[in-house]
Amino acid sequence: MSTHRAADAVEVLLIEDDPAIGGHLRTGLVANGYQVQWCRTGEGGLAQARQFAPEVVLLDLGLPDLDGVEVARSLRGADPDVVIIILTARADEIDIVVGLDAGADDYLVKPVTVTVLLARLRAHLRRRPAAAASSGPVRLGDLVLDVAARRCLVGGSEISLRPKEFDLLAALSRRPGVAVSREDLMAEVWDENWFGPTKTLDVTMAALRRQLAGGTAGPATPVITTLRGHGYRLEVPPDGSGLTSG
Ligand code: CA
Repeated sequence: MSTHRAADAVEVLLIEDDPAIGGHLRTGLVANGYQVQWCRTGEGGLAQARQFAPEVVLLDLGLPDLDGVEVARSLRGADPDVVIIILTARADEIDIVVGLDAGADDYLVKPVTVTVLLARLRAHLRRRPAAAASSGPVRLGDLVLDVAARRCLVGGSEISLRPKEFDLLAALSRRPGVAVSREDLMAEVWDENWFGPTKTLDVTMAALRRQLAGGTAGPATPVITTLRGHGYRLEVPPDGSGLTSG
């Protein structure tokens, strides 16, 4: 089940002083195609982060030199986009809360299994393309979605979407014409740990559809089809692209 991504391997900075835990996590990550830099101290980790700008940092809170929470704060200050996952030996809520307040995105309580770590990494990295989109706007029919600028145009006019409506449209636009399950949308737009009622998705979807079908919509505007018992699909009109309003 491992996914090997040699050319575009995700860079993970592991800051962990325990040789057994660090070795275990590094081996598991490398075996699954991640590129891992391992530092045993907070100072070393911060220096490494400055030099290599990793996409993900796995950060032990109990380090020999610096307070892990301070390391999290420095990392977040230097890079707003880096995914920071704190590793804590204690299921102590206060550690976790302080770590998240300092800018961490997630936490794992030791002992950390590689399987769980990989699942968390996949969930966080799935969400990254939207935030880190370096490509230009996506054009689907007369819909233009500029994820980097968070702008959405239908028929040349900008429509103003709420944040979750935008994220939902962005998630569907990454796979036009492809069925996307409700679970995947919940994980991408909300949170993979969110087990609440999925009514939020229905409400947001209804609002998004109203926005897409608003005043400037035309025959070239994509529509969202419901796939009963599965999820949704963004339908792009077959000859929709290239149309200009006269
Ligand atoms: Ca430690």
